[in-house]
Amino acid sequence: MPVPNAFVGDEMTKAAYQESYTVSPDMPAIDKADVARELMLDGLERRIAGQLSIIIPVGVIGWIASLSDNNALWMFLGLQIVAQLAIAISSQWLRRAVEAGKTAAIRKNLWMMAEASSGIIWAAMMLDVGTLIGGSDAVLTTWVTILVTMVVSIILAAPIAGIAFPLLGGFTAAVAAGIFLFGKDFSTFSEMALTFMCIALFIIAKAVNFQAHKSCRDGIEVERLSQRLTEELGRTSWLSRHDSLTGLLNRPALQEGIATLGETQTPVILLDIDDFKAINDNYGHMQGDAVIAAVSACIKETLDTAAPDGLAARWGGEEFIIALPDSEATQANAIAETLRKAVAKLTHRDWPARLRVTGSLGIAHGPASAFSTTFKSADSAMYEAKEQGRNRVVSADASDSKVIKPARAA
Ligand code: GH3
Ligand code: MG
Ligand code: MG
Repeated sequence: MPVPNAFVGDEMTKAAYQESYTVSPDMPAIDKADVARELMLDGLERRIAGQLSIIIPVGVIGWIASLSDNNALWMFLGLQIVAQLAIAISSQWLRRAVEAGKTAAIRKNLWMMAEASSGIIWAAMMLDVGTLIGGSDAVLTTWVTILVTMVVSIILAAPIAGIAFPLLGGFTAAVAAGIFLFGKDFSTFSEMALTFMCIALFIIAKAVNFQAHKSCRDGIEVERLSQRLTEELGRTSWLSRHDSLTGLLNRPALQEGIATLGETQTPVILLDIDDFKAINDNYGHMQGDAVIAAVSACIKETLDTAAPDGLAARWGGEEFIIALPDSEATQANAIAETLRKAVAKLTHRDWPARLRVTGSLGIAHGPASAFSTTFKSADSAMYEAKEQGRNRVVSADASDSKVIKPARAA
C-alpha cells in the first residue's frame, strides 16, 4: 500500500504546519508603494464625503453672486460644480482600479487634472471677487469663505499627496497668474496675504502628508505584526496539542479529548511497531522516522474511513493509541484488524525493497471515564500480541486469563 499523505490535526493539517514553519521569522520590510497605496485608498474612500463640505461655500458664493449680480462669479461657480463632479467620478473610477490592484495611470492623471482644475477655479473666484475687495461686506465674506474652503480642503487632502498638491498647485498657479496679470487691482496687503497663504498651505500640506505617511506606515506595521502573532499563536497552539513528526495528537491532547467523553463506551487500541529497533539499526533513524510517519498516516486514513470521531495519538516512540468513542467491541476489533493489514502492506518507492513494517495491536473496552484502566488492559493485550509472534491483534477480553507481563503505567 502506498504511503498516504494525510495527517490527523484538528486545527491545522501537518502540511499547513510545515508550510507556515518555513516562513522567515523576519518581518518583511514595508514598501513605500504599500504606504502610498494604503493612503490613496483611504483618501479615495473619503473623497466624496470630503466634497460634501463644499456645499456651504458654494451656497454662500451663489448667494453673493446673486447679490452682486456678478456673472463671472456665476460662471466660476458652475465650473467649480463641474470640476467637483469630475473629481467625484474620476476618484471613484480610480478607487475601483486601485482596489483591484491595477496601476491605472490614465485614471490617476484624470483625477489629478480634475483636482488641479478645481484649485484653479477656486483661485479664479477669489481673484474675481478680490478685485472688488473693500467694495462691500459681501465681497469680503466671499473672499474669507473661499480662503477657509481652500485651507480646509488642503488640510483634509494633505495625507494624499496625489490630491493635495494638484489642488494646491492649481490654486497657487492661478493666484500667481492673477497677481501678475491683474496686480494693479490688488492692494499690496492682499498680494502679500495671498502669497503667504499659499506658502503656508504648502508647508502645512507637506507636514500633514509626512505625518500621515508615518502613521500609515506604523498602522501597516501593527497590522502585519498582529497577523504574524495570530499565525504564531496558531502554530504554537497546534504544536502544544500535536506531535510534530506525525501530526497526530500528543498524549495530553488525547487525554483532554477523552476527559470530555464521560461514561461514553470508548474502546482503546494500542499499536506498537514490531522490531522497530531493527529498522533503525538496519536502515538508519531517518528511515525509522519515515516509518513512524507512514504508520501514523495509515492510522489517520483508517480512522477517516471507519471512525471519523476517533482520536489518535502518538503515545511515545513507535507506540500509538487510538480511542474510539461510542464504538461497539466488534467495530473496534474490525478497525484494529483493518489497521494491522494496512500497516503490513506499507511500502514506498523510496524505501529499501526488503524493509517490512508490521504492528502488534492490543484492544480493551470500557467507558472513557475509566481510561487509565482500559489503557492498562490494552497494553497487556498488546504485549500478548508480541508474545504470540507479533503482527496480530489481541483483545483484552481474550487475554485476561493469561496476562503475561505486568501492565505499564498509563
Ligand atoms: P518490539 O517488536 O518488541 O516492539 O521491538 P522494538 O524494537 O520495536 O521495541 P523497542 O522498544 O526495543 O525499540 C523501540 C525503538 O524505537 C527504540 C528507540 O530508539 C526507537 N525510537 C523511539 N522514538 C523514535 C523516533 O522518534 N524516531 C526513531 N527513528 N526511532 C525512535
Ligand atoms: Mg515500543
Ligand atoms: Mg516496537
